[in-house]
Amino acid sequence: MRMDKTSAGTAGGSNLARRRRSVQDDLILSILHTAPHALSAYDIQDRTTAKGGRIAVAQIYRVLDRLVRSGQVRRVELLSAYVIEPEGKNALFVCTRCRKAIGLSVEALASQLADAVVGSGLTVERQVIELSGQCPQCLAAEQASKAAPFRQPGALLAERARQTGRRASGMPTLSSP
Ligand SMILES: [Zn+2]
Repeated sequence: MRMDKTSAGTAGGSNLARRRRSVQDDLILSILHTAPHALSAYDIQDRTTAKGGRIAVAQIYRVLDRLVRSGQVRRVELLSAYVIEPEGKNALFVCTRCRKAIGLSVEALASQLADAVVGSGLTVERQVIELSGQCPQCLAAEQASKAAPFRQPGALLAERARQTGRRASGMPTLSSP
């Protein structure tokens, strides 16, 4: 005789708890799916509040732990944040400016790391491979903002005046270069 796992030995209360749990899991997964970048537990709480279903941060951490264990979500260690699991990617590149996380596949490095502890008596529990830097969009935005003062001579003069301790007012206005 086959036991039906979905109904065997469950009281009404635990069914309710399970239903609430799956609603919260689905809500947090949908928030992570639509986010353009990695989200912290507090970012997720802000979004659940905006959707009218505020969840306590401690509960969000419990849900995230469960989703990480089931392989649906990846924790980004460098950002203390979370993204939808990038399937088939064992490494992440994270942009420190926009918090976007891009999955990378580095099988050779992963096995080299695993081999490095063989015979050492060390027990590996987790392997995390992450790189941080800037994505092409953020790099372009940074370069544009560095170039910007030269298009605004007034702002540049004010900055120079501040640096030399002189009054910015009464400075001559430069015409366009
Ligand atoms: Zn970026």
